Amino acid sequence: MEIKVLKDILGANEQIAERNRRLLDSKGVFAINLMSSPGAGKTSLILETIRRLEGKVRIGVIEGDVSSSLDAEKISERKVPVIQINTGGECHLDANMTSRALDNLALEDIELLLIENVGNLICTAEFQLGEHKKVVILSVPEGDDKPYKYPLMFHIADVVLINKIDLLPYLKFDIEGFSKAVRGINQKVEIFPISCTTHQGIEEWVSWVMANMRSSAPEALT
Ligand code: MG
Ligand code: ZN
Repeated sequence: MEIKVLKDILGANEQIAERNRRLLDSKGVFAINLMSSPGAGKTSLILETIRRLEGKVRIGVIEGDVSSSLDAEKISERKVPVIQINTGGECHLDANMTSRALDNLALEDIELLLIENVGNLICTAEFQLGEHKKVVILSVPEGDDKPYKYPLMFHIADVVLINKIDLLPYLKFDIEGFSKAVRGINQKVEIFPISCTTHQGIEEWVSWVMANMRSSAPEALT
């Protein structure tokens, strides 16, 4: 008897993710999947990004959490369309959940979609959502050893943001060693040290977002 379990789940997920991607492309929406441990600063980064791009780029947000709508409430205070997904125990977002969220967003009014995944450095890395880019946030208090412990997450990242660099004077975190470890796993990754508190590095992050939005746009426009 043939036993297929996880492979089929992931196979079905990839198909739905491709459908999501086609929908996003047809509406000219550039989507970023934001992943990190709980408390690394995903919601803070979204709020900073909204603040910087207000009036320039129309942003939409999908918030993934096991429960509550606390983060979505913070986003909606900024008058940005937001859909909260409560996974009800699942520790990651999948393409199907994302698809239901997309059905409930006015995509024609959105140019940049920020998807905040469930706080988790493990299985969030395994599920495609249909996003254009994957961004991993690692904060200074978590320690610089995480690329060794969670290599898949750093392998699949397009960008790694080192957040809370304002805490560097108080904590032992070797930015150079960390960056070297990340590049050892992933040669094409871009790394930006940032602080959502002091706003250091946010300019560079936002420039990356704008440049990548533009480079993904032509297909959507033709
Ligand atoms: Mg959050
Ligand atoms: Zn999971």
